[in-house]
Amino acid sequence: MIQDISPKIYHNEYKDASPSDHDFILIFHKNTVLVRYQDGKLRYPVLMELKEYILTYHYLFSIDEYRYFLACPSPGFIRDLDGNSPVIELSGYFYEDVRIFRTADSRHTAFAGITAHHLFGWYQSNQFCGRCGQKMAPDHKERMLFCPGCRNMVYPRISPAVIVGILNGDKILMSKYAGRPYTNYALIAGFTEIGESAEQTVQREVMEEVGLKVKNIRYYKSQPWAFSGSLLMGFFCDLDGPDTITLDADELSEAAWFHRDEINLEDDHVSLTREMIIKFKEGVC
Ligand SMILES: [Zn+2]
Repeated sequence: MIQDISPKIYHNEYKDASPSDHDFILIFHKNTVLVRYQDGKLRYPVLMELKEYILTYHYLFSIDEYRYFLACPSPGFIRDLDGNSPVIELSGYFYEDVRIFRTADSRHTAFAGITAHHLFGWYQSNQFCGRCGQKMAPDHKERMLFCPGCRNMVYPRISPAVIVGILNGDKILMSKYAGRPYTNYALIAGFTEIGESAEQTVQREVMEEVGLKVKNIRYYKSQPWAFSGSLLMGFFCDLDGPDTITLDADELSEAAWFHRDEINLEDDHVSLTREMIIKFKEGVC
């Protein structure tokens, strides 16, 4: 899966650090990231290439001994009418859609990129206190923003969500999303609502999207999925009752039962959804 970058090690402990010349700097503009390619592999700029800009930096994480920082324009920068920061331009670099992180090499560089984009969105959306409107300030001990005015504390937002492999003997239910760029078969999925457990999310989402009852809900694995700012929790469960699908056409374009032998997908080594489908295909679950 996308977070599996072994033998490299992702170090997520927070540090109150400033970048050095050779540290990697992540620069985003909306849903794009500043990159170049070197021998087919993704590269981010390092601090020494950004000397002409006056920027502020947030330490993100390290992978092995390499440190990654997020660049943010300083407060004096003029924003455009949409509130966007000006675009930073560097010779040899260009802005690439963040969806490239699903497929780009090296895999640890791609994982760093999408994880940084998740944090970028959080920093962007919490520049001002949602309670009193004052400018938020970064804490120095943990990854937290606080309001000097009213002491409001804001932590990175991670939305829990479930992925559900609904089994019916030797068949699994696969579906396609309506109106999304991702067009391969997937599993039923949805965000956990306030006031419910992950297992209750499974039951509710399955009923809402395909009109089925399920039982024997069992946890499989989880995955950070920064593309949607979520922590995905994978569950398998068994059909409980009739197998007639009632499709929620707002969410899905199609849903159907597939026998193990009918599945012709391969593991993409990126998504938990795909791994769960492959496990079923191989008869492991
Ligand atoms: Zn406040």
